[in-house]
Amino acid sequence: MQPSTTASVQPLVVFGPPSLLYDFGVQHPLTPRRFGPGIELLEALGADRFMPPPEVSEAELRRVHDPAYISSVRMLSEYPDAGPMLGFSAWGDDPPFSGMHEAAAAVAGGSLAAMERILAGDACHAFHPGGGLHHAMPERASGFCIYNDVALAVARARDAGHRVLYVDLDVHHGDGVETIFWDDPQVLTISFHETGRALFPGTGFVSDCGAPNARGTAVNVPLEPGTSDVSWLAAVELVVPALAAAYQPTILVTQHGSDTHLFDPLAHLRVTTLAMARAAALLHRVAHQYAEGRWLATGGGGYDVYRVVPRVWALVWLTQAHRDLPLETPPEWRARWSGEAARFDQAPPPLMLLDPPELAAPEPESLVERNRQTAEAALACALRAIEESTAA
Ligand SMILES: [Zn+2]
Ligand SMILES: [Zn+2]
Repeated sequence: MQPSTTASVQPLVVFGPPSLLYDFGVQHPLTPRRFGPGIELLEALGADRFMPPPEVSEAELRRVHDPAYISSVRMLSEYPDAGPMLGFSAWGDDPPFSGMHEAAAAVAGGSLAAMERILAGDACHAFHPGGGLHHAMPERASGFCIYNDVALAVARARDAGHRVLYVDLDVHHGDGVETIFWDDPQVLTISFHETGRALFPGTGFVSDCGAPNARGTAVNVPLEPGTSDVSWLAAVELVVPALAAAYQPTILVTQHGSDTHLFDPLAHLRVTTLAMARAAALLHRVAHQYAEGRWLATGGGGYDVYRVVPRVWALVWLTQAHRDLPLETPPEWRARWSGEAARFDQAPPPLMLLDPPELAAPEPESLVERNRQTAEAALACALRAIEESTAA
């Protein structure tokens, strides 16, 4: 069934006071300040179905995390400065903070609760902007991610008997989710990201396509630095529909990190909201075509807090709400947040929801060609493995 364009629906949005607690400190790039402009833009566009994220139980966290790691997080959450004394090595990009366990457990709980609402049939589409902490590993924190909320939601759906398609559009490889489901034939993970040759976490190459008993259920499309709308979207359009057709998922989970955007300060892709909106629409069609609309979308990375992140959240929400994208952002919203943006030395919220086409510079032919070969190789590798496994 195709998504209806006339009937408007209210997607469930996971957000509430606990969302603001996930905070590594004022200097850290992943800032809860993004919720102010982000959530207010959704509200200005008409979002009114919010669910605060509940704290997840430790038993649920153990679906994807080692008990010893959860204990370490709890300990550092209580004594954030005592890491060296307690024998914990430095946590690098993930500095422990007071209440870290509760904050991370709320992010995880948000994605899990949204998934449960979808499984129960209370919601068809759900969006968790604060979710998408895709780097967290079973036994360690990584890349601003303490607990892997998306993996937890995926595991919950899998345990309910679903075939899960996970699509990761963040500029960084979705390594934590991939690792957790590496040998799981019931979960297909597809990650589009800037190549690990140029960017954290340095993994996610075409040849990495799943454990021997789950070949083809991890798919990696590493793209060249400088990749812009044309070849990014071409890769998504080549790989996702073909693999959805081959794999026949019954539920869709996605991660929409806005750090692919050309304004993002932490990475080197040059994607704009034009291509991101097309990708969201494509994923929406996949959800309806294969999964009766069951779709949990999450936010993820994104460090241009006023100019980029809110618009990416808005286009995901508008897509889930079956709404046309307005040309412009609401003037009151822009006025309200441009002052705070200036105070934090950030660019203000822009006039246009969708970036002008000329913002994405034309890509060199050689780059387009390399990306095309990468996407074709990733697809071929996965299709071959899926065919072999269904023939066996
Ligand atoms: Zn829909
Ligand atoms: Zn990222």
